[in-house]
Amino acid sequence: MTRPAVLGGPVSFPEGLPFVQPSMPPLDEVVRRLRPGYDTGRVTDGPLVRQLEEAASERLDVPEVVAVSSCTVGLMLVLRALGPQGPVALPGFTFAATAHAVDWNGRALKFVECDERTFQADTADLRRKLAGAGALIVTHVFGAPCDPTSVEAAAAEAGLPALFDSAHAFGATHRGRPVGSFGTAEVFSLTPTKPLVAGEGGLVATRDAALARAVRVGRNYGNPGNYDSEVSGLNGRLSELHAAVALASLERFDEDLATRRRLAQRYRSGVAAVPGLSVQEVATSDESTWKDFTVRVDAGVYGLGAAELRTALTAEGVDTRRYFFPPVHLHTTYRDRYGCRLPVTESVAGSVLSLPIWPALEPARLDRVVEILAAVHEHAEEICQPGR
Ligand SMILES: *Cc1c(COP(=O)(O)O)cnc(C)c1O
Repeated sequence: MTRPAVLGGPVSFPEGLPFVQPSMPPLDEVVRRLRPGYDTGRVTDGPLVRQLEEAASERLDVPEVVAVSSCTVGLMLVLRALGPQGPVALPGFTFAATAHAVDWNGRALKFVECDERTFQADTADLRRKLAGAGALIVTHVFGAPCDPTSVEAAAAEAGLPALFDSAHAFGATHRGRPVGSFGTAEVFSLTPTKPLVAGEGGLVATRDAALARAVRVGRNYGNPGNYDSEVSGLNGRLSELHAAVALASLERFDEDLATRRRLAQRYRSGVAAVPGLSVQEVATSDESTWKDFTVRVDAGVYGLGAAELRTALTAEGVDTRRYFFPPVHLHTTYRDRYGCRLPVTESVAGSVLSLPIWPALEPARLDRVVEILAAVHEHAEEICQPGR
């Protein structure tokens, strides 16, 4: 077994192994779609946005899809349209934007614990936090469905709208049904780290025609068409340029998704042989997008914690992310305002590490990452030696 670079061994990826390399469609394909509108100056609010909305609606099997400028703006507009009459429950283990969308709507946040093995919102704690709440947003963490059936049931019991932060989950399925058709609305992101790429952009998917209309009006300053604003909206439109990229990306999306799943499977079997590492659990009835491949490090068994493992991987040229650390309830803007503690979430957030995964990642490079994980474990004691 080669000596880890962190101990002076050879660097595995001297040229660097990036954390993510977005799968970009051929530029020709983008230009071909864009050219007609571009040449006439129709570069926003045009036919490509409509085409993207229709294609997504068909694929997600949901009647209404509204394209917006980002997932964050989509969540903000959906919440604005619903006007929850109380705090909004959401996981502490999520990206900052989930919380910010609530905060920008002037609603209080109620942070929910996560499950130790799936990293998804803990449904029992969610049920408790729904008492007195006005709505809930649950994230499909790392592209794995967050058991939307149970989330919908909890919301229905409490008589509240259920929103899903589906930023990671375009292409995921829950019990054979596409993620996108659950709850009151689901909101996707189209930024380069997410499975489907537009550059910037988001999609609001809903079965509620009135909500879809409200988001369409909201993304256009609240203007229903007569310049007499119904609500204080935003400029939340998606441009034709971004829609052209997303449409071209959709053409190869299934292939990319299948590749991601093969790579995730390869990682899983490799990581299973390394003591002290475990992989995010995904229900057998569900399919993740594997937007992220995330391992949990049991420092007592592995010999190092997630932060030290990250340092060791950086020394090899492997770029990683500590998603989501710190968890959002402990971000500076929320920590003192809410004083909320979530022991399981904090333990998970402190011990997970997301590894490189993207469609063009060669299996041989992935195998090398797994070898490094094993080698670092083998040398853990030496790596930890004080004064090394
Ligand atoms: C990326 C991300 C967002 C924000 O998406 P944008 O399109 O960049 O606004 C929201 N929630 C989660 C969980 C994300 O990972």
